[in-house]
Formats: sequence, structure tokens, C-alpha cells
Amino acid sequence: MEKLVNLCKRRGIVFPTSDIYGGLGSTFDYGPLGVELKRNVKEAWWREMVQYRSDVLGLDSAIFQHPRTWEASGHLKNFTDPLVDCKNCKQRFRADRIEGDKCPACGGELTPARNFNLMFKTFMGPVEDTAAVVYLRPETAQGIFSNFENVVDTQRVKLPFGVAQQGKSFRNEITTENFIFRTREFEQMEMEFFVRPDRAEEEKWYRYWVDFRFNWHVKFGIKREHLRAREHATDELSHYSSGTTDIEFLYPFGWGELEGVAKRGSYDLDQHAKFSGKDLTYFDEDTKTRFRPWVIEPALGVDRAMLAFMLDAYDEDVVDNEERIVLRLDPRLAPIKVAVYPLLRKAGQPEKAIAVRDALKRHFTVAYDQAGSIGRRYRRQDEVGTPYGVTIDHQTMEDDTVTVRDRDSMAQDRVPIARLVEVISDRIGWTRPAAAEPV
Ligand code: ATP
Repeated sequence: MEKLVNLCKRRGIVFPTSDIYGGLGSTFDYGPLGVELKRNVKEAWWREMVQYRSDVLGLDSAIFQHPRTWEASGHLKNFTDPLVDCKNCKQRFRADRIEGDKCPACGGELTPARNFNLMFKTFMGPVEDTAAVVYLRPETAQGIFSNFENVVDTQRVKLPFGVAQQGKSFRNEITTENFIFRTREFEQMEMEFFVRPDRAEEEKWYRYWVDFRFNWHVKFGIKREHLRAREHATDELSHYSSGTTDIEFLYPFGWGELEGVAKRGSYDLDQHAKFSGKDLTYFDEDTKTRFRPWVIEPALGVDRAMLAFMLDAYDEDVVDNEERIVLRLDPRLAPIKVAVYPLLRKAGQPEKAIAVRDALKRHFTVAYDQAGSIGRRYRRQDEVGTPYGVTIDHQTMEDDTVTVRDRDSMAQDRVPIARLVEVISDRIGWTRPAAAEPV
């Protein structure tokens, strides 16, 4: 992990927030390369969860929701973690994350556990009275439930269907840990999949989404042996769930949650109907009946997914007797897709290389590098995961061909400049046939 954290800082993937002020307790900013990686992770999710399917639609609801939302959802009452303080060293812990009744840091005596609500509170409008209290959303899901009727009324949807969204969520976590694994401000990608209120139907889609989500991680570069699906025990379940599977990843600090897939039943729609006085039912044309659908929810953290992808991509090997760090990211996720290099800084090569860079930039993220030996330039790109390197050499000046180097095999082949966009697009693979449609 230490090596990855260093690489992230050194190469502009992740910076500590407010670095010039000494940082702000486990909050992170994404640098020029990190923002590209993040966009690609979100794109990979959106394509597979929304764009390639015909049964899921997108949404982008506000971070602020009506305060009644959180009463209805149960977050005001139930979204708490048990907090204990050490009487000796004053450190704070989540009571459910420590073993025994002594301070894990110094062995001191702990206070009794008290429940701590994880929602951030703030004020809407200039007057700081209680009427204007609003919360920063702790999950994106509730904005989907409160728009259920809007979506059904405007989109001609038919069960089963899903509504997906990506966006920031906030939790005032008692303890933050492990780089971008757990932070107080993070981004989520969630999808609420509405099905008929029927046990068999629910079970079928629950299994379907656990498998689909598991395979998504593998498809984009997580090693199968670093993933496992773990079903929650009954006493572990959230207040709204009758069944949850965590897709866990083997982090350097051990197995931990990467994504959760939960059966939420009609809990959320029932609650919002109760608190809003709205009907929130669905009319089923086939059976001519009205009911509130049940929900299966896959929920993944963007930052946590980025961490897992980077951890599994990180590799060190030896090339021509020199050690190199290489991030073997799936080309679709790589922050920079192509680096363009003139072999020499003369003979018209830099000008030609800049022209090639500018042409490629209309299609991909591109880096240009003319400083230092070609071997060093390759290694600089290898460590940030750039999958392809295009070199302009003396032959280019004669026949308009370039070499394309592959990050992993390090093989080079000659390609006419006129075919470069097509060849690189094809290798990146976004347009290859999508995963099969549902059962
Ligand atoms: P944990 O048990 O780790 O606190 P959770 O079970 O509360 O997580 P969910 O409510 O299921 O998490 O959230 C769905 C996903 O959102 C998680 O699987 C994770 O990827 C991400 N996530 C949740 N909390 C955080 C956080 N504090 N920082 C980063 N990502 C988070």
C-alpha cells in the first residue's frame, strides 16, 4: 500500500486535501491523472449498468434532499455507529470494530458505547435555525426512491427496471482509514432495480446482480482470487435489508467490503409513501394490479473501486536489467491512453510527433514526451499505466508509419499514421461487444 500511496502522490493521481495547510484528516484530492482514472471507472460502470442495457435508466439527484427524506429512510434514527473513547489516550474507536473492552492503542479503559449519527448537518438559507437544517446525503439511493413516481410517469418503464446514479455522498465516519478506502466525502455508484413483489423474482434478480457485479470487477482488471462474495449473517443486516452480499476484495490490510448488493424489499417506497402521503405504487398492465415493487440494490464506492483497481494493477518487473514499476490497468481505465515520443529531438521528428499528438487528442487522452532517453520515457508512462506508446522515428519521416509499443508485452509494431486512431481504439476495446444481456 505504501508504494502505491507514494506513486499516487509522486505522479499526480491522489493528493492529500489542503496539502499546503498540512492536510485535512483523510480527505483526498484527485490530481490530473487521478481525475482521468476516476472518470474512466465511472464510465465503465455507466456503460455496463446503463448504456449497454435496455432495462436501466440514469438519474442525477441533488445532494440536499428534503429533511423528511432522512426521517422516512430511517437514517436519522438508525444511521449510527457505536462510538467509544479511551479514557487514557483519548483516541476514538468504533465499538464494533475492536475486540475486547480495552483500548486497542494503549490498553486503557474505554467509555461505554454511545450511538453517533453519521450524517453531516448544515443549514439552508441565511438563518441558522432548526427549521432550516439539511443533511448532506449519506447515500445516493434516496434520491432515486423520491423520484420513483417521476420516472414511472415520464419514461414508460415496465418491471423489472433499474434507476442508476453516480455522485458524492458524505458520512461523518468515526474512524477513517487506509488511504481512499474510507473517507468522509466519497463518491458512490448505485442502482435500484425494481422487481415484482415476489420471493422467487427477488431471489432471481438478487443472484443475477451479485454475479453481474462480481464479473464487472473481474472484467475491468480485479484478480478473481482477490474477490469473494460474502453473504451477511442475519444480525449484520441493515435495518432495511432482508439479505445482503458484500463483494469483498483482498486489500493489503485484509478482506474488506468493495461493493454491497442488498435486497431492500419495498421498505424505502413504503416509508416515503407514509411520510409524503403519496401513493408511490406501480400499475401492472399484465395483472391490472397496483403494488410497490421490491428492490435489489448494488452499491459501489468509486474511490474504493479505484483503490482496488490500482492495487491489482501495481506490478514491478525488470526490463533490460532495469527495474520498472508498471500499472497494468485495463486500457479502458488507464488515465492516459497513448504517449507520443519523437525518437530524436531533431530532423523534424518533434514537429511530426506534435502533429500526431494533436490528431490523437481528438479521440484519446494523450501525453507527449521528448525529454530523456526513450527507455526512460517508456518507464515514466509504464508506471502510470499508459497502455500504448507511439514513436516517431527516421522511418516515419519517409513513409508516415510509426511504431506502437504495448505496455505489457513491450512488443512494437509498425502502423501507418492514417490507421492509428482505428488501431488504438480497437486495442482499448470500448467498442468490443458488450457483456450478454440478462438471463
Ligand atoms: P462499511 O461497512 O465499510 O462502513 P457500508 O456497508 O456502510 O460500508 P454501504 O452503505 O453499503 O457501505 O455503501 C456502499 C458502498 O459505498 C460501499 O461498498 C463502499 O464501496 C462505499 N463506501 C461506503 N462508505 C464509504 C466511505 N466512508 N468511504 C469510501 N467509500 C465508502
